[in-house]
Amino acid sequence: MLADKDRIFTNIYGFQSAGLEAAQARGDWDDTRALMARGQDAIIEEVKASGLRGRGGAGFPTGMKWSFMPKEPKPDRPNFLVINADESEPGSCKDREIIRHDPHKLIEGALIAGYAMRARAGYIYVRGEFIQETRVLEAAVQEAYDAGLLGKNAAKSGYDFDLFVHRGAGAYICGEETAMLESLEGKKGLPRLKPPFPAGAGLYGCPTTVNNVESIAVVPTILRRGSAWFAGFGREKNEGTKLFQISGHVDKPCVVEEAMSIPFRELIERHAGGIRGGWDNLLAVIPGGSSVPLVPAADIIDAPMDFDGLKELGSGLGTAAVIVMDKSTDIVRAISRISYFYKHESCGQCTPCREGTGWMWRVMERLRAGNAEIHEIDQLLDVTRQIEGHTICALGDAAAWPIQGLIRHFRPELERRIVERSGVGDTPQILEAAE
Ligand code: SF4
Repeated sequence: MLADKDRIFTNIYGFQSAGLEAAQARGDWDDTRALMARGQDAIIEEVKASGLRGRGGAGFPTGMKWSFMPKEPKPDRPNFLVINADESEPGSCKDREIIRHDPHKLIEGALIAGYAMRARAGYIYVRGEFIQETRVLEAAVQEAYDAGLLGKNAAKSGYDFDLFVHRGAGAYICGEETAMLESLEGKKGLPRLKPPFPAGAGLYGCPTTVNNVESIAVVPTILRRGSAWFAGFGREKNEGTKLFQISGHVDKPCVVEEAMSIPFRELIERHAGGIRGGWDNLLAVIPGGSSVPLVPAADIIDAPMDFDGLKELGSGLGTAAVIVMDKSTDIVRAISRISYFYKHESCGQCTPCREGTGWMWRVMERLRAGNAEIHEIDQLLDVTRQIEGHTICALGDAAAWPIQGLIRHFRPELERRIVERSGVGDTPQILEAAE
């Protein structure tokens, strides 16, 4: 279990003020100038050595991402840092806690990260529904400006860095990095084709790095305590601490910082009060937000909660939004509802996603009611594979994976509903006939 002394987010529950004075008392902004004086490349190397992987879902190494930025930006093409605070994945609720209770960790991290990647300015793109959070963040940014921590000669480092807060209009797709850049530029949030990647041509056509809130907010502590300290948590290639967001059928849903690779059972027992009705009542878990495939109870109970451990189970850590479902869950209905979400949020640019998400949802609804043919299960699976990997952005994958997980692990349940609704006696014979 992560000791209190090793927690990065010491005000995640908001027991203390989010203001600058309280943040400084917690150690934020403590001689930031000295951290920056180590030099841009040294900071990038330290972040690389810490093993930090992006906390927004993809898990790409953060230090390596920064190193893709031009070392000598042209005067008319400055580097930019964009911070993704468009937290909209169902189940995810960690960036919100950082912003409303610990915003100075994010702001100090933005300055250091921006400096390391030679960015002239940073933009924090906040989810449209986060109205109160945006107010807190804007007040914190203003406090930082007033204290000389941002702007010209930020934190007396000799480096000029501006930070802007931008609230979106509430579209899920603006969490996709290139859609976010379009939206920041004042256009509709439609994902761009890649390449070019943002590090080559991002915001206003300039080199840009997009990082998640948590990835940026942990950087000052990594520099203060050292990459070896951060890398001391979790398994190899899965290092660090992580904010887990536990929801669903547990006794005490919560957001908690823990060491990466903590076994699922320990995470739930220690922080969420156990499974509602006991461990025998656990049906399945969506371990990383709604876009990753579910994992059945037997597979996840002793699994390490990290990128590689969950990948081995055919799922993913995603944002570490752990959605727990007990045996009272109508699992087909749950996945069908997720399908509806992705259908609703598709931007409509590419045909497999625009047409496919709606088609999949309609079939899922019929499967929920058992109003389908047995062969349609494989047909649905086939369609998910035609959508996966064939779209401009990852929303197509996000819509396909939950259904693939359902069919992989709960095919008998889908078949049972069809057989029961058909009202024709003996299940095995009908299934055999269908094959
Ligand atoms: Fe838009 Fe879907 Fe294509 Fe992404 S995959 S660009 S959301 S239509």
